[in-house]
Amino acid sequence: MSNLWPAESAEVCDSQPSADVVEEVSPVVADVGSITVRRLLPRRARRLVGPWCFLDVFGPVKQSGRKPMDVPPHPHIGLQTVTWLFAGDALHRDSLGSEALAVPGTLNLMTAGRGIAHSEETPADATGALHGVQLWIALPDAQRGIAPAFDHYSERPHVDVPGGRVTVILGRIWEVSPPGRTFSPVLGAEIAADRAPRLVVPLDRAFEHAVVPIDAGLALDDLRLAPDTLYYLGIGRDEVCLRVEPGRRPRALLLGGVPLGETVLMWWNFVARTTEEIVAAREDWQAGRRFGEVRGYPGARLDAPPYVARPVPANPMS
Ligand code: MN
Repeated sequence: MSNLWPAESAEVCDSQPSADVVEEVSPVVADVGSITVRRLLPRRARRLVGPWCFLDVFGPVKQSGRKPMDVPPHPHIGLQTVTWLFAGDALHRDSLGSEALAVPGTLNLMTAGRGIAHSEETPADATGALHGVQLWIALPDAQRGIAPAFDHYSERPHVDVPGGRVTVILGRIWEVSPPGRTFSPVLGAEIAADRAPRLVVPLDRAFEHAVVPIDAGLALDDLRLAPDTLYYLGIGRDEVCLRVEPGRRPRALLLGGVPLGETVLMWWNFVARTTEEIVAAREDWQAGRRFGEVRGYPGARLDAPPYVARPVPANPMS
């Protein structure tokens, strides 16, 4: 996906790890064409969770004969994109020549490094259903200039935990650690509760974590959790224990990672460190340099929005 409503100028995003907290981050909601998108990262209250720097939840929607996802070719630098679906399908094409269909249970992981372009669209013969998330992982400074890559993983393993099942998207739960190209310690998982009253998922104390309920029916202690809302849990936890409402089988995303410990600048589809890099990447895209060509997409590529250069505050929290 492309960032569908970029800020005029770069957003400063840095790690602000806390311990022993539960912070609720409500979504910004936008109707984008035929689909509703909820932005949960970055937000003023919470810019990063480990290296996770961007989270949009899209759908659910069901439109026979239409394309609920249709994102023309656009560029990325300095990040990885994770496309994870709960329903529907999304066809990825990129400037390396990759073509891969994401469906529920598969992972499309694109490493932008110094620059890549891609498109994502509902394929022509699809049902018109779509529900999923688009996530970005900020690459550490030492690796962000690497060559671009794309990985499609056709299955992700499950771990049975008390009260449910966890699908490991990236990272590790207990000894289950599927292959996945990553550059700093990270966890992405889908939680599915069964009918037990309590769901317990082990956590790494060195990570900061967040839970994002996809369905209603979960509570954390006495706090009822709203769907499509990010609950930041901080660092230093051994486990998260969720209460499950009787009769429900809710799902949630679990995100985590060692705090990035670097301040990044985000604008449009770029994760950078300086405004000069953002301006150069934008100019390269507009001039047809650096990112290569996405073949096979039936339409024109995206134009970059105008970039308004502003002094970047040294400390966004001050
Ligand atoms: Mn994208």
